[in-house]
Amino acid sequence: QKGGVGKTTTAVNIAAALATKGLRVLVIDLDPQGNASTALGVEHHNGVPGSYEVLVDGSAVGPLVQQSPEHENLFCLPASINLAGAEIDMVSASQREKVLASALETYVNQTSPRIDFIFIDSPPSLGLLTVNALVAATEVLVPIQCEYYALEGLGQLLRNVDLVKRNLNPTLEMSTILCVMFDARTKLAGQVVAEVRDHFGDKVLRSVIPRNVRLSEAPSFGQPINTFDPMSRGAIAYRDAAKEVHARVTS
Ligand code: ADP
Ligand code: MG
Repeated sequence: QKGGVGKTTTAVNIAAALATKGLRVLVIDLDPQGNASTALGVEHHNGVPGSYEVLVDGSAVGPLVQQSPEHENLFCLPASINLAGAEIDMVSASQREKVLASALETYVNQTSPRIDFIFIDSPPSLGLLTVNALVAATEVLVPIQCEYYALEGLGQLLRNVDLVKRNLNPTLEMSTILCVMFDARTKLAGQVVAEVRDHFGDKVLRSVIPRNVRLSEAPSFGQPINTFDPMSRGAIAYRDAAKEVHARVTS
């Protein structure tokens, strides 16, 4: 529910790393800023249909999905700025919390070869867009910034996940935490990681994502870190994290 904590960077780069392992991966951009679309090199200027049309017009997902030029197994349902009006445009829709879930169910059942992973990149607020993401998802991955008091605000997020679980999506689980923006030079960063592990145990991935300037440069080239600078520390860390995410669903 916060901005600038590494949600998009994590979604895009884990998705891209999984795609290079041969898995077919879809990223749903659910943030009107369209950062995930940008980072995947996918067109999303005003007029390009994407998640808004799925949510508000009832469009099917399949025809609006674009293949990322970065990898043949990597796909994106783009977001353009019109998505900023979606929450208001959906107010009178029936079952408005479940629009994305139903659209994705249809998409998954009709898509061949099958899609192995779907990542939904959420906006930084708890509105109807995020609720749609939480209703459509089976799991929640939370990136935690190792810089500030990381656990602050997390209680509210967990209560909201729980609320959606009880009322709308009984199988939803906050399954995975990833420590991001780790700066080894500060004592605080290490303390935050220790505190997060202490609190959340096995939910926390072993991989920790360092603060790495290459990660912040990649999106302006429309590239995930894996293609932008595959040997950077950020790329290596996200590949490790992706390996763990993959191992969790196959074990
Ligand atoms: P959110 O989606 O939560 O708003 P972003 O993933 O867009 O957050 O990250 C916020 C900013 O921080 C972006 O400019 C991004 O490029 C940068 N960033 C994210 N992770 C890292 C990292 N590990 N090292 C350096 N910069 C990062
Ligand atoms: Mg974002």
